[in-house]
Amino acid sequence: MTHKLQAFRGALVDFVGDPNELGDNACRSFADGVLVVRDGRVENIGPAHELLAQLPPEVNVIDYRGRLILPGFVDTHIHYAQTDMIGSYGEQLLAWLENYTFPTERAFEDPDHAREVAGFFVEELLRNGTTTAMVFATVHRNSVDAIFEAAATRDLCLVAGKVMMDRNCPQFLRDTPASSYEDGSALIERWHGKGRLRYAVTPRFAPTSSDAQLTMAARLLDEHPGVHLQSHAAENPQEVRWVAELFPWSRSYLDVYDRFGLLRERAVFAHCIHLDEADRRRLAASGAAASFCATSNLFLGSGLFDVQRAAEAGMRVGIGTDVGAGTSFSMLRTLDECYKVTQLAGQRLSPLRAFYLATLGGARSLYLDDTIGNFEAGKYADFVVLDPQATPLLARRMAHMQRLADRLFLLLTLGDDRAVAATYVAGRAVHARAGSGARDSAHRGQNCLQMP
Ligand SMILES: [Zn+2]
Repeated sequence: MTHKLQAFRGALVDFVGDPNELGDNACRSFADGVLVVRDGRVENIGPAHELLAQLPPEVNVIDYRGRLILPGFVDTHIHYAQTDMIGSYGEQLLAWLENYTFPTERAFEDPDHAREVAGFFVEELLRNGTTTAMVFATVHRNSVDAIFEAAATRDLCLVAGKVMMDRNCPQFLRDTPASSYEDGSALIERWHGKGRLRYAVTPRFAPTSSDAQLTMAARLLDEHPGVHLQSHAAENPQEVRWVAELFPWSRSYLDVYDRFGLLRERAVFAHCIHLDEADRRRLAASGAAASFCATSNLFLGSGLFDVQRAAEAGMRVGIGTDVGAGTSFSMLRTLDECYKVTQLAGQRLSPLRAFYLATLGGARSLYLDDTIGNFEAGKYADFVVLDPQATPLLARRMAHMQRLADRLFLLLTLGDDRAVAATYVAGRAVHARAGSGARDSAHRGQNCLQMP
């Protein structure tokens, strides 16, 4: 954390609410704005002509004019251990788990391997402008230590947890209800609330946890208020049928989690594709959130998340890359696929709502919107600087775009990690794309320095 006053000048964009509810008023923007940061937290934002005059003369203004400054992206569902299995060919969910996921995750019993992958993973998040993520580790306790250590060294706000899995998976990846409870308790004690880190109780999905283990998951949550929960729900039709066989008493897949007390605030369920109206209403009422993982859902052929019905039911929704079934760390690439999914359903995802979901909507899904998600005073200065001229095609098309919504839509259609000029966490630059630097100058002076 820095202790000096900082200022960043550029086109500022953030969201104060859901565009579905507030319309264009949900989006706040300053074409030539300044973000003022003190001790790593947002102090103020506003138009440059007002705020520059109020800054002490010694404050260096980082000049991102021509770029867009947005709150850092919030990825509500991703598996760090699957970084090395993106692009594994040819399977749908259950065979994909068996053939690719379980063998890959086995390697995380080696702490050195876990640390190496965790370091790469966190750098990849930042290279893509993602400053907060909700992350599955593996069944191995040390895999959680590795991802939290990697996040802590960069002061990231990150949620993660140890996978709980005691049946219907290879013996080498199984824990037990008792061991998963003990490991979970110890990891919560060690990591939850340490700096910006948060723990999530993490049953993989209903088929791989016994009744006793799902009961233990709820016990961990009850004993540690404020701890999160993450799991998967209703991703694939074959999986949904299997859950109905495993839990014959259940009304639906989601009902299994409900009966065990896992539908609650701070819980995020990835996918939630094959829900009915009763499920949607119950999910909304419980305060739990769904993570819309479009690239993963298309890649595994799982189905189309119903954005419109989710909104009508009042569900909390965030965006997830779901690497490694997801095919990109980039939230821009993911939003592009989210848009296409809504098109296939005869719906429409507006650019403003897309960027809301990837920032404040994600923060709300994780119940972290008191500290991240937009540029309200007092929140952490976690932000991404997007370059609308990052590629020749972006620059060419952007030249004809005047409205903010059109510029954002083009960024999600054509953008990827190349469009991320820089990423900041708590006011500190943690990624700067080569050749895409800012000018760093005393705002009343003429000297302009290139950032590295
Ligand atoms: Zn997943």
